Amino acid sequence: MTQKTNDTLMKFDQQHIWHPYTSMTKPLPCYHVDSADGVYLTLNDGTRLIDGMSSWWASIHGYNVPALNQAMQVQASKMSHVMFGGITHEPAINLCQKLVDITPDGLECVFLSDSGSVSVEVSMKMAIQYWHHQQPTKKKFVTIRNGYHGDTFGAMSVCDPDNGMHELFTGFLAPQFFINAPSIKFDEPWQQSAMQDLEQTLVEHHQQIAALILEPIVQGAGGMKFYHPEFLRQAKLLCERFDVLLIADEIATGFGRTGKLFACEHAEITPDIMCLGKGITGGYMTLAATLTTRHVAETISNGPSGVLMHGPTFMGNPLACAVANASIDLLMTSDWQQQVGRIEKQLQHALHPLVEHKNVSDARVLGSIGVIETKQSIDLAKAQVLFVELGVWIRPFGKLLYIMPPYIISEAELSTLCNVIKQVLDSDIWAK
Ligand SMILES: *Cc1c(COP(=O)(O)O)cnc(C)c1O
Repeated sequence: MTQKTNDTLMKFDQQHIWHPYTSMTKPLPCYHVDSADGVYLTLNDGTRLIDGMSSWWASIHGYNVPALNQAMQVQASKMSHVMFGGITHEPAINLCQKLVDITPDGLECVFLSDSGSVSVEVSMKMAIQYWHHQQPTKKKFVTIRNGYHGDTFGAMSVCDPDNGMHELFTGFLAPQFFINAPSIKFDEPWQQSAMQDLEQTLVEHHQQIAALILEPIVQGAGGMKFYHPEFLRQAKLLCERFDVLLIADEIATGFGRTGKLFACEHAEITPDIMCLGKGITGGYMTLAATLTTRHVAETISNGPSGVLMHGPTFMGNPLACAVANASIDLLMTSDWQQQVGRIEKQLQHALHPLVEHKNVSDARVLGSIGVIETKQSIDLAKAQVLFVELGVWIRPFGKLLYIMPPYIISEAELSTLCNVIKQVLDSDIWAK
């Protein structure tokens, strides 16, 4: 492509296309990616960047994966899409069977949708419909601060009220109950006092609360924090005691990212409802799933409406299901536990010493997730240019420099990512 054409394309992009959370008048520069292969993104000028983000948790196997390409090609030549109302097909059946098999015991009924946020909306509808004819006062949700559950309105209402988007949409967003984020970190000694806030809230308000919704173990976009599995285990017990459903949003954590196939396994619990997305198709297509127990599904189905009130146009999209099947097969036949374990060790070795760095307030690692929390907010524009100059794709936000690379990343590539993080911390972008 000639330089001139590229300039024209980029100009159109800047003037007409919104990117995530950006301004139409002062957009930050965008990089033009031409192709991607393995752990590399190739820019249109030929620059190759090691991807530290897995395209926001999704590309767990990396890019241009032969088995996934093939699954999509084969499916596209048979049927790319067909409505799911009154029609079913093998890609969806096979996928739902796999999801029931690999998720915690007891999750048996699957609702397919098109994105993570929608799967959260569906989970919230399930919870409200579950209580509708049994205890119609239960229409609210309780959640933990620092959470992130998506950008649609139901999901936004349970995102962190301070770092989320609540102020902007006050008056429209449903008010919910918020408890303090779990105070005990993943590997700290457990203290029972960490449950007080949740218990107190449930004591006072359980008659209004349909469900507790949380991200199990890892709070992602709301702060990249890892909390103690005992919190999750006891939260499940409190939910049972107070007749409140538990929704586990595993959209970021699912499919091995934390070292367990699903983060709920750290606490050995089965939630009543589980949301999956992001890595479900290996990053190839947009697809999500909401799973629930037979009991919840039957209670909804025995209710006055008799049906779950949701049905997206692209529900069960065969192309997405086919590539999800191939991705899950690839994962389950790979040595992902070893890969994630190896990444975890290397991240610990490389990142933990950075707590001593003058610009760093915390360094933490869980599974194949590495997080550096900085003392000052990161200047995204400056940091982004520097990362790209140094040959990697890392996109920080706020005070968080974090990576969650594809599981196939080599030791050498991962050490480049970690070295670049160190170089950026050492750089002069922090000078005020
Ligand atoms: C990304 C994310 C979502 C939203 O998923 P989308 O596909 O972006 O709608 C919801 N919950 C969690 C935990 C996420 O990480």
